[in-house]
Amino acid sequence: MKTIVVASGKGGAGKTSFAASLMAWLHGQGIQAVAADADVDAANLGLALKAGVPVERRTYIAGDAREVRAEACTGCGSCAAVCRFDAISLAAGVARIDPFSCERCGACADVCPTGAVRSVPAHAGELLRSPVAYGEALAHGELVPGEDASGKLVRQVRESAARIAGPAGLVVVDAPPGIGCPAMAAISGADLLVVLMEAGASGIRDAARLLDNAAIAKVPAVAVLNKAGLSPERDREARDLARDRALDVLGRIPFDAAFRRAAERGGTWLDSGSPGPVEAVSEACAAVAARAGLVPAISAAGATPERTLP
Ligand code: SF4
Ligand code: SF4
Repeated sequence: MKTIVVASGKGGAGKTSFAASLMAWLHGQGIQAVAADADVDAANLGLALKAGVPVERRTYIAGDAREVRAEACTGCGSCAAVCRFDAISLAAGVARIDPFSCERCGACADVCPTGAVRSVPAHAGELLRSPVAYGEALAHGELVPGEDASGKLVRQVRESAARIAGPAGLVVVDAPPGIGCPAMAAISGADLLVVLMEAGASGIRDAARLLDNAAIAKVPAVAVLNKAGLSPERDREARDLARDRALDVLGRIPFDAAFRRAAERGGTWLDSGSPGPVEAVSEACAAVAARAGLVPAISAAGATPERTLP
């Protein structure tokens, strides 16, 4: 199985739109992939892929939550005293744990003299499988309000996608933004990381940090520059970063308001109807697919898919 991960160091850089476009482009080439929406906090990949009603739901257990058995509680207050997160209050002589404040450290259970605090599975959300218009399926997650995305959840979304794809399949992962544990869980073990680099000061700096993580995880990385051409200075900074990191930039996607309108309609960048930018997206997708060994290095349109910034 092959895994292509689309990531960016920051949110709003276009990674979800590019991941969806890559799925649609592959679909157009007759290559079926499973999409994994690992950006669980803002799971929008399904909108662009026109996902249908989920056909599979599984409970996601985030670990052990704690609850108090009222009948065994003496109201001694030891648990409230030890809780560093002020998650425990006493009412009518019985301790109560606020699940939104509890960090599940377990200290309250350790100090309770009567064993009134017990562990219960923390139902934190669901793992879903949905049909999509472009590709084989979408593996995604839904969190219970108040729950955080975690590396464990991202890993389980990826595992769900891998199970659907099978040993000879292809998975395209939309990674969470940032460089924290969820992002690392999305990247590690991938065959190819596509860094969506937004041509702006923060986009380039965050892409550099993401590349540091990719190097630690030993994942080969390439870049696609988004919103190219808006600022010569930012384009030069992107070029400098690519040169310093020996990073191949496989595409330059210009800013186009039609992309936003396509996203708002629930489509990919390829649905934008803006010929020039659509061609740039197609070329970038072809170059990524070629780098992943999915298609020949020259796209059907005759474009040279792999290139560096001019
Ligand atoms: S430590 Fe145990 S017995 Fe004491 S208040 Fe907390 S839950 Fe109740
Ligand atoms: S598990 Fe930790 S954070 Fe949660 S209520 Fe107990 S002591 Fe507080």
